[in-house]
Amino acid sequence: MKSFSDEEKLLIQDKFDELLKVASFVTKQEQIDLITKAFKVANSAHENMRRKSGEPYILHPIAVAKICTDEIGLGTKSIVSALLHDVVEDTDMTVEDIELQFGDKISSIVDGLTKISGVFLNRSGMQAENFRKILMTMADDLRVIIIKLADRLHNMRTLESMPPNKQIKIAGETLFIYAPLAHRLGLYAIKSELEDLCLKYLHPNEYKLIGDRIKETEKKRLTYINRFALPITSKLNDEGIEYEISGRPKSIYSIWNKMETKNISYDEIFDLFAIRVVFDPKTGITEKAQCWTIYSIITDIYIPRSDRIRDWISQPKANGYEALHATMMGPGGKWVEVQIRSKRMNEIAERGYAAHWKYKGINQQESELDKWIKEIRMMLEDPKSDAFEFLDEFKLNLFTSEIMVFSPKGDIITLPAESTALDFAFFIHSEVGMHAIGAKVNHKLVGLNHKLRGGDQIEIITSEQQQPEFEWMEIVTTAKAKSKLKNAFKDKRKVITKEGIIHLEKLLKELNLKANSTIFRKLYNHYNTRNKEKLYYKIGLEKFDRFAFQKILKRRSKNKWIKFWSVASEDPNIAAKKFDTSKPLIVDDKTKDFQIAKCCYPIPGDDVIGYKSTDDNFIIHKTSCQNAIRLNSSESEHVVKVEWTTHKILAYLGRILLKGIDNVGIVNKVTTVISNELSVNMRSISFESHDGIFEGNIDVYVHNSSDLNNLIMNLSKIKGISEVARQEIIEDTF
Ligand code: MN
Repeated sequence: MKSFSDEEKLLIQDKFDELLKVASFVTKQEQIDLITKAFKVANSAHENMRRKSGEPYILHPIAVAKICTDEIGLGTKSIVSALLHDVVEDTDMTVEDIELQFGDKISSIVDGLTKISGVFLNRSGMQAENFRKILMTMADDLRVIIIKLADRLHNMRTLESMPPNKQIKIAGETLFIYAPLAHRLGLYAIKSELEDLCLKYLHPNEYKLIGDRIKETEKKRLTYINRFALPITSKLNDEGIEYEISGRPKSIYSIWNKMETKNISYDEIFDLFAIRVVFDPKTGITEKAQCWTIYSIITDIYIPRSDRIRDWISQPKANGYEALHATMMGPGGKWVEVQIRSKRMNEIAERGYAAHWKYKGINQQESELDKWIKEIRMMLEDPKSDAFEFLDEFKLNLFTSEIMVFSPKGDIITLPAESTALDFAFFIHSEVGMHAIGAKVNHKLVGLNHKLRGGDQIEIITSEQQQPEFEWMEIVTTAKAKSKLKNAFKDKRKVITKEGIIHLEKLLKELNLKANSTIFRKLYNHYNTRNKEKLYYKIGLEKFDRFAFQKILKRRSKNKWIKFWSVASEDPNIAAKKFDTSKPLIVDDKTKDFQIAKCCYPIPGDDVIGYKSTDDNFIIHKTSCQNAIRLNSSESEHVVKVEWTTHKILAYLGRILLKGIDNVGIVNKVTTVISNELSVNMRSISFESHDGIFEGNIDVYVHNSSDLNNLIMNLSKIKGISEVARQEIIEDTF
């Protein structure tokens, strides 16, 4: 190892002095002493060590500490921890050494930083584990993750000196974990710098192309911003508002992302930049009110788009972001996004968490962010969750609207959440999509409708013989895949729809029928559609014969007579009380005199007895039930013989929607509850389960709505059921 030259030693001292200068809030001598001590310890630990670029290693921790204080606004402890962040990993120093010299707080932060510097391996399982590690330390002390972000930012800024294969790996990891984390913590400036740097290494050509375009159009943009701002400034001045108007272009990454996901060109992106009005709040008026005042002033000049107002003042984002966004029609017929923020809001937007602390004070009420961290901690403490599951759960919060997946070669591809394997295929190339027959997700064979999760690695299997199928329209979610498929189908669909019309006409003629609203209602019901074009299309696909057609026409569409189970008692006292003796002795659950025992839950058909309780109710037990046997021997005078009987009632079809967590046996529980409701008959039940969530429809016949409401109430009591609702079955109005 080459010892540091005198020049290099001077450079190190210079950089450290610079750090102290930017940490202007560090004024107490003891703080300065502590930081200086950390620098000396780190400097001697890293002595004569060099980075890949050849420069002294210690310049890296100094730079990280500088980012922490200058760009994020963290305090003394963080600066000290940042200076020491690599000593345990890269030198002979131990965590105990640090604890001895700097105390347990700093040593635990450094320990956390050491633990999370894992290696990114190109296997999803490893990513998940790595990610979990990061979050675990984060739940301990948020400073750990923020310093880690600063560390990563400096590494990304100096990625040039790394070999190309490492560059891609580090950039991939950054895009996958660190940029979303920065976003989640509200560190927007860092997030977009990280993303831009990732793009620079992952897609260098696009990065350069977009960067050049932004530069080319800079002059034009500035002129436009001035033109837009001019009438606003005079009005704001009149109102005596202190403000600054600036117009920053969107980041290269976000422009690229838009071009990719929306499949549009640079010129088609209308919101290439946003205009930002940052004001100095006047005292005595809330910042919220002042935001809306400025909004009102600007909309006196420019017309706003009512569907694009984003009010993050009344309801800040989960990461603390506050601002009022609106899109206005600017000069020359261009849509311009305007962001209105107070100085405080602006600082939070730029610096995130640290700024939050500064304004809110540590003891202030729990912020959204704190709640979020608490949630993470709870998830982490759940011993059952493995790293992968954990990642999934976490990502629900993290990548709310998009997922990142990998090609077989390890390229990162961003897709909207809910994308399927088929969407992925179309993303790769429309020819791949058109000929896809299946996919391998994480080396496992899956269907094209398989929903992708972040971190999945996908390989599409194609066949020359394959042709796109109509059902695919229901599988794909991305605009790109949809439009490609639509074009392919347009012609084919027209032909089949036409065939459907001809086929139906033919059948009607054969059966000597004239098309009328009843026939159509039955057909609509049969195909579960309300759209004529769709109906013909479905008929054209199926081309059922006249017998099938007659069957459809015969089917009763709504109410019907169905069998209900009830119980009849031989006890004349019970019968006399309520019922006409000339009719069957029927007691059903609506008489309130009759309950199903909670110990044995008899169902219709079981051998049962009735136990008359004191208030003249009676309870139905299975004859074999232990309680029934006991009652029979001790209180036989209260036991009556009952039998199940059936009767017919005009019933109505009702539909119940169910949602919940798919735990073992939940369907069984649901059906048990339904069969316990004696005045309800189940017609059909269908459940779908994915990602541990199930959704289902139950069609039941009931007498009236109170039966249905009862059932809904009882279903909602089942553990794991999160939503039960009645769904209207739309009746035809032909
Ligand atoms: Mn480092």
